Amino acid sequence: MDEVLLGIDLGGTRVKTAAVALDGKIVGHDVRPTPADAGPEAIADAMAASARAALQTAGDAPARAAGIGAPGPMNWQTGVVFSPPNLVGWHNVPLAAMMRERLGVPCFVDNDANLACYGEFCFGAGRGVQEMCMLTLGTGVGGGIVVFGRLLRGIDGTAAEIGHMTVQRDGRLCGCGARGCLEAYASVTGLVHTAIEGIEAGSVTTLVAACGGNLHAITGKMVSDEATGGDDFAQWVIEETGDWIGVGIASLINLLNPERVVLGGGMIHAGDTLLNAIRSRAMKDAFEVPARRAQIVLAELGEDAGVVGAAMAARERLAGRE
Ligand SMILES: [Zn+2]
Repeated sequence: MDEVLLGIDLGGTRVKTAAVALDGKIVGHDVRPTPADAGPEAIADAMAASARAALQTAGDAPARAAGIGAPGPMNWQTGVVFSPPNLVGWHNVPLAAMMRERLGVPCFVDNDANLACYGEFCFGAGRGVQEMCMLTLGTGVGGGIVVFGRLLRGIDGTAAEIGHMTVQRDGRLCGCGARGCLEAYASVTGLVHTAIEGIEAGSVTTLVAACGGNLHAITGKMVSDEATGGDDFAQWVIEETGDWIGVGIASLINLLNPERVVLGGGMIHAGDTLLNAIRSRAMKDAFEVPARRAQIVLAELGEDAGVVGAAMAARERLAGRE
């Protein structure tokens, strides 16, 4: 029986595990709810149970190591997770050590957005290049950067917070407490904010009927649906959001000269309206040579990027390469 690597993604609502063969193929799988309010020990137990279930679906393959994606902030070298906002009662939790005790194999903890980027780099939209960055466009904006074929982590491991680049001085309040972050405009939350602002300023749109007149009930999907239905304002909201994402990407292109910029997360389902707006702004704002070089493409691994990246990062770290 061939050895496999475990990739475990600890989310606020669910734990997802894949048993990954050395060629990146997922050979076993498990998803279960995160007992988010039950504290670190119970969550580690759930993660270990998920890992064992994934190995079982892989025909009881033996695990060589486990990579774990967790929400930050954390010390990736010691595997201690500080205090993620969506996990109650977590404070300096030695997650890598706790998982090693439960699984009996080397365990490595990393930032979940970085690992999604690493997954795409190894086997998805970033394969074959050495320089790439990734934006995960969901409720927030996650980021990951690969330079020289390795994750860029920074001295404290906090690098690549692409969503928190300032794009507007004294701009919208961001979930992080600062103002004018890319995330406040370029996330689904930001998109909804843009829609509400526009309607409050007098724009006429079918969105008002779609949300039953309660603007705070507007969702990203509603905006997307009304845009598909031909509503001009909803289309504009998507273009405007793409424009903000393009502003952020233009800076990344000038800063990093990447070969590929990969876009993941739920928002990419908004389709060509969004993608065209992103590309057009990025090409317009960035320097010509790196702008011509950078391919802005959609992620390929979907929700598997995080677990595949976790497994591959564990392999590299076991070998002392990451
Ligand atoms: Zn922020």
